[in-house]
Amino acid sequence: MGGYGSGGHNRTHRQLENFHRIDSFSFYDYLAGDKYLWCKTTVKYPLIGGDIIYYVQSKTASIKTFSSKAGEYRYMDLPLSRVPGIDGKSVRMYFHCPYCGRRVRYLYNYYKHCVCRKCAKLNYASQQKSGTDEMRLKMERIVEKKLGYTWWRREHPDLPIQYLWHIPKPRYMRWEKYERLMKEFRQLQDDHERAFLKGASWILSRF
Ligand SMILES: [Zn+2]
Repeated sequence: MGGYGSGGHNRTHRQLENFHRIDSFSFYDYLAGDKYLWCKTTVKYPLIGGDIIYYVQSKTASIKTFSSKAGEYRYMDLPLSRVPGIDGKSVRMYFHCPYCGRRVRYLYNYYKHCVCRKCAKLNYASQQKSGTDEMRLKMERIVEKKLGYTWWRREHPDLPIQYLWHIPKPRYMRWEKYERLMKEFRQLQDDHERAFLKGASWILSRF
């Protein structure tokens, strides 16, 4: 699955297409297919690791996305655009990226942030420069190879490794060694957070 890396360090997982994508057309179809929309106040559109709340009266929406600044999930405004189709009768709905405002059909779940393609690429470039990629690989090595916790991604499919908290101690491992590895891991998480927030073009860190 499209998680981060898999020991073998293949490069394809880095491609944007492997991140979960939210399609505004599907969102529109979901609303249009709801017979009881008119008598509801809100509609919840489920996403992997979040949701969109649609407010029927005001025809607005908000999306659950991660706030780096707050260190937690928050609802952010998700502006919508309705564009008439070529036939003049149908409607096409588009999202506006919660981070840059660009009108787009697709938003990507980029490490817990719902962003447009351009924001994801920009941030990916700045992440590379700040070395956060390597830090995540080091974290994976500790978690999977040294602590033998190979099923963490199955247990936490939406959690980037830098937010992983509980790692079980292998039965055969001495506490001393376990604590030393955990310390090393926590240090990498701290370093990662710092580098992540420092990235000048890291647009997401401002939210
Ligand atoms: Zn954007």
